Amino acid sequence: EVGSWELMKSVSLALNIVLIGPPGSGKGTQAVRIARRYSVPHISTGDILRQAVRDGTPLGREVEATIASGGLVGDELMSSLVEARLQQPDVARGFLLDGFPRTVDQARFLDTLQPDLTVVHIDVPDDEIIKRLSTRRVCSSCGLTQSVSTDEATGEACPYCGGTLVRREDDDAETVKKRLTTYAAFADPLIAYYRTRPRFVTIDGAKEPDRVSDDIFKKLDAFR
Ligand code: AMP
Repeated sequence: EVGSWELMKSVSLALNIVLIGPPGSGKGTQAVRIARRYSVPHISTGDILRQAVRDGTPLGREVEATIASGGLVGDELMSSLVEARLQQPDVARGFLLDGFPRTVDQARFLDTLQPDLTVVHIDVPDDEIIKRLSTRRVCSSCGLTQSVSTDEATGEACPYCGGTLVRREDDDAETVKKRLTTYAAFADPLIAYYRTRPRFVTIDGAKEPDRVSDDIFKKLDAFR
């Protein structure tokens, strides 16, 4: 049984962040920075699924086609995956969820696990996103996201670790369109679900990455 003191500590001290934003909003980049600054684990459901696909696990085989199509993996599968992850000891002082919840059903489920949430919504206009995703590359070695000079660029070196930059398989123009449509279909109700919470904030994600980080940190510091 969890003592009431333990419960109080987890309510008052843990920083449980949910990051919402369209593909190409800089969500992943900001997630890494937020997690480092507040010493909470960065939990990216997209990263977990892609790793499972690479490892060829049963989970990976189950979700591979869905990810490739730009659609959403089922709520139940995603919820049980996140439930298991949030039982790991490293989330005792909080977590940063990147890519979950994506639907209101997922958000409702998360509330049953941890309702004490700080919700950061990164907002970027569609035309800016399409521009960004065509030049987005991911380092196949360290996993950090980069922007390259032209959308034809391939095989460039990661400025951080020297690894090879590759295009994410679901970043081709057609799948990007599908992913944006998918996001648009679910984002409004999701944001409406969270909007009235005391610790909900919308951040202008069209600014330079460092400015966006500053804006996020200021808000998160003020919430604490
Ligand atoms: P992301 O890296 O967050 O863009 O996720 C990549 C892909 O993984 C998405 O396009 C979905 O197919 C799948 N995915 C990741 N998180 C979720 C989620 N919470 N619900 C459903 N599908 C997800």
